[in-house]
Amino acid sequence: MSFLFVFFIKMSIILSGGFMADYLDLTKGYQKEELKDAALTIKQGGLVLFPTETVYGIGADGLNEEAVKKIFIAKGRASDNPLILHVSDMKMIERIVAEVTPLERKLVEKFFPGPLTIVFKRKGNVPNVVTANLDTVGVRMPENKIAHDLIELANTPIAAPSANISGRPSGTNVQDIFNELNDKVNYILDGGETKIGLESTVIRVIDNKINILRPGKITYDDLKEFGEVVVSPHVLKEASSDEVVLSPGMKYKHYAPKTKCVLIYSDDKKKMLDKMKELETNNTLVITNEDNVKYFNNVISYGKSLEDISHNLFKILRSIDKENKELVIIEGVKAEGLGLAIMNRLIRACSHNYIEL
Ligand code: AMP
Ligand code: MG
Repeated sequence: MSFLFVFFIKMSIILSGGFMADYLDLTKGYQKEELKDAALTIKQGGLVLFPTETVYGIGADGLNEEAVKKIFIAKGRASDNPLILHVSDMKMIERIVAEVTPLERKLVEKFFPGPLTIVFKRKGNVPNVVTANLDTVGVRMPENKIAHDLIELANTPIAAPSANISGRPSGTNVQDIFNELNDKVNYILDGGETKIGLESTVIRVIDNKINILRPGKITYDDLKEFGEVVVSPHVLKEASSDEVVLSPGMKYKHYAPKTKCVLIYSDDKKKMLDKMKELETNNTLVITNEDNVKYFNNVISYGKSLEDISHNLFKILRSIDKENKELVIIEGVKAEGLGLAIMNRLIRACSHNYIEL
């Protein structure tokens, strides 16, 4: 953790009269017992901001209705958008899930712990506020050691949506979200930059088919080895108000900067760059692949590989409004593999203002 950021936090504590979250810097390693206070905060019904390998989460005891309600208030999240329960082992899954089918078991064995959320039939002890009254519950077992240790010490499934005010890009490092959330949570665990940078793949098995409700690091091809895979139509298209959406989160505006954004993509690179050039003015910002930075004036690179883009995307989306531009022109990627998850987030960041050539 940078010295400057820790200094900034100390100054903030003094200026706020001490009314802000406890902060623990774990970026240089830690002993498990250092997480005891954060785990106690969860047990006592408080909120803890913590890292996972995907993005940061705002965590509360997932079996404590009052604690979970605080998450919805802190984020300004719609009450019909269910939360994912994060577990540390199989025993914890059995506490909340009514049934694990043979196919679901294979997926758990292959992908847990990791960036995959499975929507299971739930048990009655999971509060309705977690599942938005659905008879299912989304479950994930994070691989990140801090997340794992926190859940294990708290000894309860932790409900944790992405760490951001609803509608904003998810937090991938504490600096980006400190001002947004520090007065809304009780404890902050700083684990540095998250590894993946995009939220988990969310799936639900229906009639032995694996439905991708939200794409992520675990891709269509990764899942295909286990059976038929169906990508929900709402992954790349806007849901109309009367449509039933398998994953309620897909209905909502997400990831969007305040500045207007347009997403451009074509398999024909020249066509794509020509369109981006056509839209460029003195008052635009271009966000593009490292390889294409040379073609534009006011430009930010989002990296070269899909892994780079996934890792950098939310940080860049958060920085856009500081540039005070009229329009942001964003280069798309092929919606395949991890590219499907990137395009899912970019299309929403641009409020479906998407030109495919
Ligand atoms: P976030 O908490 O911001 O990572 O978003 C969680 C995503 O998982 C949202 O898109 C939710 O709609 C989705 N989700 C969580 N639980 C369920 C569930 N029981 N059924 C379908 N989707 C779910
Ligand atoms: Mg979110």
